[in-house]
Amino acid sequence: MHITNQKLIEWGWKPFWDFHFHPDEYPGCHPARVIRGIRNHYLIRTENGEQPAVLSGKFRHAATASSDTPVVGDWVVILPGGPSGKAVIQNLLPRRSKFSRNAARRSIQEQIIAANIDTVFIVSGLDQNYNLRRIERTLTLAWESGASPVILLNKTDLCPDVMQVRKEVESTAPGVEVFAISARERTGIDAFSPYLAAGETVALIGSSGVGKSTLINTLLGSDRQQVGAVRVKDGRGRHITSVRELLILPGGGMIIDTPGLRELQLWSEGPGLETAFQDIRQLGVSCRFKDCSHTDEPGCEVLKAAADGRLSPDRLASYQKLLKEQSYHLTKVSRSARQSRKAQYKRTMKQAHIIRRIKEKS
Ligand code: GDP
Ligand code: ZN
Repeated sequence: MHITNQKLIEWGWKPFWDFHFHPDEYPGCHPARVIRGIRNHYLIRTENGEQPAVLSGKFRHAATASSDTPVVGDWVVILPGGPSGKAVIQNLLPRRSKFSRNAARRSIQEQIIAANIDTVFIVSGLDQNYNLRRIERTLTLAWESGASPVILLNKTDLCPDVMQVRKEVESTAPGVEVFAISARERTGIDAFSPYLAAGETVALIGSSGVGKSTLINTLLGSDRQQVGAVRVKDGRGRHITSVRELLILPGGGMIIDTPGLRELQLWSEGPGLETAFQDIRQLGVSCRFKDCSHTDEPGCEVLKAAADGRLSPDRLASYQKLLKEQSYHLTKVSRSARQSRKAQYKRTMKQAHIIRRIKEKS
């Protein structure tokens, strides 16, 4: 059965979820979108409006990794009318895109911060903050997420030669749209409005001070704190004022603004790096060795291109650096997997020991 409910489509429901949600499997349930999710206090939106929600006990027990639990932007299946009027989340529908960070310092523990973002705006300020290498890096992250990146060059009012910078950025980000705007003066905003159409979900990433909050307020047409604030009951039944993390823009698009999105690191071994550096991959096809690392091999086309000006040496260095980070991350992942296997083994041995003792006693 297909969900043709116009309201759900406005809130971002895509045909993708029609394949994953079969109403007959969930009698009495509805799909809902997570507007905010902190531990087990959720705020969700269904056809009948906004409502607080909790995870079902069964779901909580089945969720072994933190990445299994819903986050802002997720689509979930809910059963209305749980304890104290809260909806009960039965299941999490698959994600079309996700932004993750590593929650642990020494090991690897994926923490998903937001899900189902269609377009990610990479915001960069055209003031002293401008840094081409940082844009490259953020672009890699964006491609990893599954969302499509778009670059916003903000503070055009402070930049004497916007055309020049824009060209430079465009050549660094093949196939990615670049818009020059001023969030403060509200210029250039209309040009990217198709990305903010009804049913579309976007997020802003970029370092502190580039103008993300200013842009969100400009897009909302008011102050975010006022628009986003909502009174919900906490676990003890008290009313608390909390801020929505998924906001609806006047034109119908949605914006996810959640604190963790602003401090992302390179997460997985996914296709991000390859996509962000297509030019290097293409050059690499002509390297003499198939597994060329483009560092010191003879017959390396990438190094040749960097030497004769076809490829910026800074861009190559940036690629190498990200590659190194990725392989460091992968080593940590495999170490982490080893550790968890070891812990599992210990638990099993302990259980066997307990069972043996019980048997001996009886
Ligand atoms: P955030 O940390 O990315 O959320 O950045 P903010 O939105 O807080 O903006 C940081 C500073 O940049 C503030 O002082 C803003 O007023 C300023 N700012 C934001 N957009 C523009 C712009 O288009 N032009 C200029 N000149 N300043 C801006
Ligand atoms: Zn090479």
